[in-house]
Amino acid sequence: MDKKIPYKIYLSEEEIPRQWYNVRADMKNKPAPLLNPATLEPMSFQELSGVFCDELCRQELDNDTPYFDIPQEIRDFYKMYRPSPLVRAYFLEKALDTPAHIYYKFEGNNTSGSHKLNSAIAQAYYAKKQGLKGVTTETGAGQWGTALSMACAYFGLDCKVFMVKCSYEQKPFRREVMRTYGASVTPSPSTSTAVGRKILEEFPGTTGSLGCAISEAVETAVSSPGYRYVLGSVLNQVLLHQTVIGLETKAALDKYSIKPDIIIGCAGGGSNLGGLISPFVGEMLRGEQQYRIIAVEPASCPSFTRGKFAYDFADTGMICPLAKMYTLGSQFIPSSSHAGGLRFHGMSTILSQLYHDGLMEARAVEQTSVFEAAELFARVEGTLPAPESSHAIRAAIDEALLCKQTGESKTIVFGLTGTGYFDLKAYEQFNDGVMSDTVPTDEMIGQSLSKLPKVD
Ligand SMILES: *Cc1c(COP(=O)(O)O)cnc(C)c1O
Repeated sequence: MDKKIPYKIYLSEEEIPRQWYNVRADMKNKPAPLLNPATLEPMSFQELSGVFCDELCRQELDNDTPYFDIPQEIRDFYKMYRPSPLVRAYFLEKALDTPAHIYYKFEGNNTSGSHKLNSAIAQAYYAKKQGLKGVTTETGAGQWGTALSMACAYFGLDCKVFMVKCSYEQKPFRREVMRTYGASVTPSPSTSTAVGRKILEEFPGTTGSLGCAISEAVETAVSSPGYRYVLGSVLNQVLLHQTVIGLETKAALDKYSIKPDIIIGCAGGGSNLGGLISPFVGEMLRGEQQYRIIAVEPASCPSFTRGKFAYDFADTGMICPLAKMYTLGSQFIPSSSHAGGLRFHGMSTILSQLYHDGLMEARAVEQTSVFEAAELFARVEGTLPAPESSHAIRAAIDEALLCKQTGESKTIVFGLTGTGYFDLKAYEQFNDGVMSDTVPTDEMIGQSLSKLPKVD
């Protein structure tokens, strides 16, 4: 081990960021606005505030303010699990016999097991401050629902979670964590909403999708007085809250004058990656530094690498606003054999614009190769990674192996977004050798894209 750089670089409590950084302020090409699907006009504050809390609408719409103060109550909560460590992956470097220096920012050190708590606590705070009774949301794998139930318990808010049915059945333990924190959990599609009943009628026996659960949660929020809807990814506000990841990473690297060459993150809806890279992309946008940034997505749900940059619905039920993003079409549902998370059909509008403008790269990886990376990482670095995070591990390993070939000692930083203790069904498939790689055909993606709304 390099004596100068510790295995874990910790910051002090005082160094938890005091402000979130809004990368939109430095973007020349701003992300396209959300559109009202009926009028195709940009969503106004008025319209958004029927669905989201007022302060979160302001954050959603603000493309110009570079920094937002983090309220003290949220910073106090952050102290329970932040600052999170930046780890030098000495053991992984050794196992790979690579000259590359690898670092990861570990966000799994809280009960929800992922970075999602960073935004959940902010969204719950603003809901409470507005005097609301509760919030509704959807959850796929369950990390977001768990994070939100923790945040709601902290502020005494009611929390209604629609959980994608196949996860509800496959992951009873996550459900119990949510219920322990006081949330009510409903498998989606359900008969408790109009959109759920319609989807069940059209597709009897469906195991659900994130898009469908979103529709149900939104419908419940807008039809229940004192409730608003909250979302764990994709939105600008979520990416903003997640910048605590990137700001801490940058502060830790700066302590030891380390400049990364490559920054890697997994991409589902884009919030952890957006949060990790924002301060670095800000430097790129201002012409101060150059970095290579790589988004890693599943080959079975390849929004960046095979999707289209177009306006689309964020939900299967087509009731949410339209977002301009890399999308596979709101009707796209990844193969049921896909076990690695990151199942959303679209992508953050901010990341979509950055990708479109050439500020980042994207690659798609197949799930068996992702679990191979996860297995190696677990064995040498000790932490059992979430399957989602393992997409980033895969790419980091591949880049480090390239360095071994070229003899270059590049510095690679990746986001380790969470732990995999609740994903053992997927690990079981991998360990039993029955995991398969299902990649959608061009025809399947084309068919789903043919149903994009006609906007431009
Ligand atoms: C939700 C989740 C992701 C993907 O969501 P993003 O919004 O793309 O960050 C990645 N890793 C973990 C552990 C998650 O829970």
